[in-house]
Amino acid sequence: MDFLPIYLDIRHKPCLVVGGGGVALRKIELLLRANADLTVIAPRFIPAIQEKLPPDRRLEKTFSVADLDGFFLVIAATDSRETNQTIARAAQSRGILVNTVDQPDACDFIMPAIVDRSPVLVAISSGGKAPVLARLLRARLESLIPANFGRLAELAGQFRHQVKQKITRPDLRRHFWERTLQGAGGELMLSGQEEAAQKYMTRALKDASENNIAMGYVALVGAGPGDPDLLTFRALRLLQEADVVVYDRLVTPAILNLIRRDAEKIYAGKARSRHTLPQEKINHLLARLAKEGKRVVRLKGGDPFIFGRGGEEIETLAEQGIPFLVVPGITAASGCAAYAGIPLTHRDYAQSCLFVTGHRKNDRPNLDWEKLIVPRQTLVIYMGMVGLEEICHALIAHGMSPEMPAALVQQGTTPEQKVIVGTVATLPGQAKDAHPPTLIIIGKVVTLRSKLEWFQGKTRE
Ligand code: SAH
Repeated sequence: MDFLPIYLDIRHKPCLVVGGGGVALRKIELLLRANADLTVIAPRFIPAIQEKLPPDRRLEKTFSVADLDGFFLVIAATDSRETNQTIARAAQSRGILVNTVDQPDACDFIMPAIVDRSPVLVAISSGGKAPVLARLLRARLESLIPANFGRLAELAGQFRHQVKQKITRPDLRRHFWERTLQGAGGELMLSGQEEAAQKYMTRALKDASENNIAMGYVALVGAGPGDPDLLTFRALRLLQEADVVVYDRLVTPAILNLIRRDAEKIYAGKARSRHTLPQEKINHLLARLAKEGKRVVRLKGGDPFIFGRGGEEIETLAEQGIPFLVVPGITAASGCAAYAGIPLTHRDYAQSCLFVTGHRKNDRPNLDWEKLIVPRQTLVIYMGMVGLEEICHALIAHGMSPEMPAALVQQGTTPEQKVIVGTVATLPGQAKDAHPPTLIIIGKVVTLRSKLEWFQGKTRE
């Protein structure tokens, strides 16, 4: 190790930055975030520095060695290598901690790249050898660590003392923390349910004994339309933590691949006419698994609250007091529209956009036709393939122009995506061989695809 990583408490301690440009600015911002008692010295300051510090903290002058007196820490960030070295030498001879930008050999300490989830802080350093590498690693960690991870530390902080008193054996204590922070307690806190998290922790602590099973949770997670890159960070994290994943037919293999290897996967199906597990059974299954202490992900295509019956599934959980959270996903309409190059709204063509289901009730599409035929509106039909012909006929019969542009997006956002473009009159005929899932988009916006098409998927014959 060339450097010992330590975290320095500089709150209200006199710190100095010498320099008035962009490099100095970045150091100033950091020191201010750490609540330093900060002074800057330079002959001139860029406006951004002037905004950051009051005039009595900005000394507009050329640096001289005597300026160092009384400082705890100094950063040499001028644009002159020589001046920086002079500052470093003078500081070191006075026992003041010094950092010299871009000169690791003239430093007592170096500044790491940081991932800030205060109070949790990750510092990454390449020992001054390859700052770009440290930054790349930082970018990876940024996407791995939930944005509000620091709140977990707050939750742990609130209970730390009580837990220590109640669970005296250190190994059991560690288990308790792992179970709760990686379980319902953590997920409730991360998803912004602070009160529920506190209640859960209080309860878990009350129940804590070697034999007790802590309650699990159910995360109702939107898997998006198919491309795994369209998952949210939270969805990915939950998939990698889950003990059990109950998934739908619409979830693509590429997404199932991201589930933690030893998690149990339960297919809950739902082909159109062949419900693999009846809804009622799914609702109870989720509740039972959570009660067994499992971290359960209920994974659904698209967004769970858009034609996904997500509401029904969590109603049962809510009634039984089981911790749950909902993670939105990119719904088929957004995903397919984006990947087909068809904006759903557009200043010239559509001011509104309507999502409807073409699912049939008593063998007929169950739609309010008047509301569908509105000028300057885009119509998106989910589950419309089976009733497509009937739907298009009815739209025309109720006054929509047969020339109205219409598109069908098959397996949108996946390598198998295929887009068929026509009009309401021609689409049913063109779409005869389409493979599910398919989404129908009707409206003038469809014409924009000729200009905006970008996604190609795998080349098809
Ligand atoms: N909750 C989902 C919709 C479930 S209903 C969501 O928000 O997207 C199922 C219907 O969604 C399918 O019949 C189809 O119309 C549409 N759909 C879902 N994924 C799709 C995809 N990748 N391509 C085209 N249509 C899709």
